[in-house]
Amino acid sequence: MTKVTVIGSSSIDLVVTASKRPNKGETILGDSFKTVPGGKGANQAVAAARLNAEVYMVGCVGKDQFGEKIVNNFISNEVFTTYVEPVTHLETGTAHITLAEGDNSIIVVKGANDNITPDYIDKALDVILKSDIVLIQQEIPEETVEYVADLCFTNGVPLLLNPAPARPISKSVIEKAAYITPNEWEASVLFNNKDIHEALKEYPNKLLVTEGKNGVRYYDGENEVLVPAYPVDAVDTTGAGDTFNGAFAVAIAEGKNIQDSIRFANRAASLSVTKFGAQGGMPTREEVEESL
Ligand code: ATP
Repeated sequence: MTKVTVIGSSSIDLVVTASKRPNKGETILGDSFKTVPGGKGANQAVAAARLNAEVYMVGCVGKDQFGEKIVNNFISNEVFTTYVEPVTHLETGTAHITLAEGDNSIIVVKGANDNITPDYIDKALDVILKSDIVLIQQEIPEETVEYVADLCFTNGVPLLLNPAPARPISKSVIEKAAYITPNEWEASVLFNNKDIHEALKEYPNKLLVTEGKNGVRYYDGENEVLVPAYPVDAVDTTGAGDTFNGAFAVAIAEGKNIQDSIRFANRAASLSVTKFGAQGGMPTREEVEESL
């Protein structure tokens, strides 16, 4: 079985729906409330596990009810939690989401995700070095991303960096990653507004720019290629990027070529947007293969 390690954030989304947003100092009644497991790291781990990879999560939660909920959610999705440490000095990460007037506003509290330091990574060295691929995102400290890029590069373990949320990163991290998967906005931040076609040419078969319902663009060494997404009736695009990353990691680690891996991941991500919720819509292996 393909071994995938995901290093990244886990959090609980606290989602309130209301007819409007309260003004400063105002209290209003909301319509509904729910708690949903999220965080880019956790989402990508669940996406990969649904596609039949052996997935190890490296992350941190607080020693609290939300932390327990996250660990239970990993277990029910068959993600290994040996390296998901409950810490006592920080609370579980949370995202406070208000859905009102057709739009969302979000406050993220990183909490225990800040505990994912280089020292913490060292505790999981064994599993990281035995992985077929490692996935990382940017909801954890920057020095950890740099540390993992070094570690993977030195030991010949392919690293997929999903540079979300957007922040500038050092050229050495870009050089050391095997694959980088920004969306269009993240690509513009990453390459300082450089023409995207130029950036693609600079990083052939490495830089994959996701373009929502248009699909994914990369440069194959000779030509720029746009691998189209699948036309679907989208109901909720939350987590589309996470599904793409989890699925691409599984496909490329299994030995599919880049274009076929992107096709597979596009299919998984397109299916995910036909259902509500980030993890709620993530398809199983059978669902992806049936529809390909
Ligand atoms: P998000 O932040 O919403 O998780 P993202 O901005 O990181 O997403 P996108 O580029 O929007 O990433 O989408 C990732 C992939 O998901 C796309 O490359 C495509 O395969 C699929 N996808 C997204 N939106 C749609 C859509 N409306 N229809 C079909 N496929 C979609």
